[in-house]
Amino acid sequence: MIDCIFCKIASKEAPAEVLFENDKVMVFLDINPINYGHTLVIPKDHYKEFHEIPDEVNQDLIVVTSKITKAILDSLKPHGYNIFTNNGRSAGQAIMHCHFHIVPRYLNDGFKFRPYPKSYKKDELKQYGNLIREKIRI
Ligand SMILES: [Zn+2]
Repeated sequence: MIDCIFCKIASKEAPAEVLFENDKVMVFLDINPINYGHTLVIPKDHYKEFHEIPDEVNQDLIVVTSKITKAILDSLKPHGYNIFTNNGRSAGQAIMHCHFHIVPRYLNDGFKFRPYPKSYKKDELKQYGNLIREKIRI
């Protein structure tokens, strides 16, 4: 048994502000966001790095990432967004369960990879979750 926080979120053993899930993927808010609405998309099964994920899971991962990005754009109205996945410690992977980041971006928002600068105040996590969930069309 791997001690992995994302496996625990996928199996509901650990809490998360879940935006969407199906049988293959789960989507939830990063609790230490680069910008509010920073979202993570993970395969529910444990794969350390992107190239290890089977094609049929990657299809869902990419399509769901696209749909959730649209929901973030429709709800939070950022000026742009980054989508990225860090693979391997040398690339900055902190949690060894492959995940895609969707980061809403604003002009002059001071983006940097580390440390993730923000946290949510009480109830804000759910409020952002509600805003984005309202716009999800899958
Ligand atoms: Zn895992």
